[in-house]
Amino acid sequence: MTEEQRRNATGTLYVVATPIGNLEDITYRAVRILSEVDLVAAEDTRHSRKLFARFDIHKPLVSYHNHNEQERQKELVQRLQAGEDIALISDAGTPCIADPGYRLIAACHTAGITVVPIPGPSALITALSAAGVSTERFAFEGYLPQRAKARADLLRQLNGEQRTLVFYEAPHRLAATLADLADIMGVERPLVVARELTKLYEEFFHGTVAEALMRFTQEPARGELVLIIPPSSQGPQMNVRDALRKLLNESDLSRREAVKLIAREYGLPSSDVYRESLSLTGEQGLDE
Ligand code: SAM
Repeated sequence: MTEEQRRNATGTLYVVATPIGNLEDITYRAVRILSEVDLVAAEDTRHSRKLFARFDIHKPLVSYHNHNEQERQKELVQRLQAGEDIALISDAGTPCIADPGYRLIAACHTAGITVVPIPGPSALITALSAAGVSTERFAFEGYLPQRAKARADLLRQLNGEQRTLVFYEAPHRLAATLADLADIMGVERPLVVARELTKLYEEFFHGTVAEALMRFTQEPARGELVLIIPPSSQGPQMNVRDALRKLLNESDLSRREAVKLIAREYGLPSSDVYRESLSLTGEQGLDE
């Protein structure tokens, strides 16, 4: 069978991006493909039914998620080989970007089945596009490990990275991640938290790790978010005294909290940093 004959005989797998919040972000092409295929493989069929209702799409849905990937893959490849066209979608954004899909796509390539991407939104690119940081080179790290040690180890490894770092993070883990960042990358490191993109409460928070800690421990983050950390500037690290002064002057942190952060960041005993902080007392703007 020639390549062309095989292409005609087998179906096509369309990898279709869907909105990350605002349903108007779906493309004309995505709506057409989803309306034309024989079957749609979706991460959560109940979730995708809402999208289908909004765009008047009436196609059978089957689930394809992390827990049934293997068995479902066999069935989907067989149906594609039998000539059916199938669309793969995830709950939001682009399939395979921190979402299931790559194994099915790899199996299709191996089986000689045509795979066609239908591009559209992804939180990663949406966040980077409007964060106002250098995007010339970036590294997408997906979700940080949940285990504290693994997370800290990875952040340590990434500390000298010269590309902009991008993470997906769950809102209830943000404060813990920021505390690790304070420890490892320093309280002065700038970052962006891109929250609820394309939705009603969309927000780009710009600040240092210390400022983000203050904001997101006082008022825990809500909704979905992307954490962006541009490379650290090449300049020398601030000395302990200046860093303490800046933190005490510009944040609402108590002396104890500021001392703890700086001691961790500089790997110094808290008692030394505390003494340094006392010697700052009396400077303009700093209270007892
Ligand atoms: N495949 C999706 C994509 O292309 O962006 C990502 C799926 S991943 C399971 C979900 C994560 O993406 C969320 O935890 C959050 O970090 C990020 N995310 C998704 N939608 C978002 C939004 N509207 N605003 C900010 N972050 C979002």
